[in-house]
Amino acid sequence: MTDFDSLPDPDAAWAAVLQRNRAWDGRFVTGVLTTGIYCRPSCAARHPARCNVRFFVDGAEARLAGLRACLRCRPDDIGRDEAAVAQALDLLVDEDPPRLAALAAAVGYAPDHFGRLFKSAVGLTPAQYMRALRRGRAEEALSSAPRVTDAVYEAGYSAPSRFYAEDGARLGMTPSAWRKGGAGVTIRWAMADTTLGRMLLAATDKGICRLSFDEGEAELRARFPKAQIAPGGTAMASLLAGAVAAVERPAMAAALPLDVQGTVFQEAVWRELQRIPAGETLSYTELATRAGNAGAVRATGSACGANPVAVLIPCHRALRQDGSLGGYAYGLERKKDLLRREKD
Ligand SMILES: [Zn+2]
Repeated sequence: MTDFDSLPDPDAAWAAVLQRNRAWDGRFVTGVLTTGIYCRPSCAARHPARCNVRFFVDGAEARLAGLRACLRCRPDDIGRDEAAVAQALDLLVDEDPPRLAALAAAVGYAPDHFGRLFKSAVGLTPAQYMRALRRGRAEEALSSAPRVTDAVYEAGYSAPSRFYAEDGARLGMTPSAWRKGGAGVTIRWAMADTTLGRMLLAATDKGICRLSFDEGEAELRARFPKAQIAPGGTAMASLLAGAVAAVERPAMAAALPLDVQGTVFQEAVWRELQRIPAGETLSYTELATRAGNAGAVRATGSACGANPVAVLIPCHRALRQDGSLGGYAYGLERKKDLLRREKD
């Protein structure tokens, strides 16, 4: 969603610079007009005077303004660093995980440098992270491994302890084993006509995992490639009735069981969406704050876009700061329609 491709509030950006807050790296760069250099927010170099600073969305924009990348913090390498940490997290969930030297080599970095990079991104050293995986938390850690990176970089959380602390706090969402494409899970589905169009509903035995429009069995199979996909039959009847009622009267949505899984930050956003009463709306900015990361407005918009169960997690209640509709996965007409129904 490029809608959210915008700069944070300048005061918040400057505060992040003064704190050298790594969580903001990748969200904007700091251009220093006097030196002609741009930096990541966390750059260790001496801080410029505020009056000489201009913020840019990214390095490309700063270069257009005639600035050069700082050689110390290398603001254009953020993507490469993120990719390396993500790749390392994948390697570490192996049964026989590599040690630091091999791990660093596998992702193309020098061991010391990569050790520091990993630690500042994940909050633990690779060895500590592996121990955390082994300790009783193995199951949760495994399922969250890909999510750790997402959360670290999308939400700016700085330590996994934050994620683990939130275990079990999922509102109406049961964590389930279908982390990789739904392996070992049976998903039943059904279609229904609603006043918003043809609706697809799919559910595991724990709850609804998909509510969408303009989709069918093929899209469902693509989404859960390893799950057993079966037509719903009578077992789905009551869920389907509840979902249709929720679409017709969105205030009804709260009672239905959900079985959805996202990154920790996405789930935090979804939880906050569920707390918005029918008939009310919230800006993406406010939603980001409530979800625990005021700076992550763009990630909040993406989390709304990634909502797997339309209406039931009411992402239609999130609007842009100026009150305009922002985005909606199934078209702005449907979003407008849902909001109107809730006001009536
Ligand atoms: Zn720098």
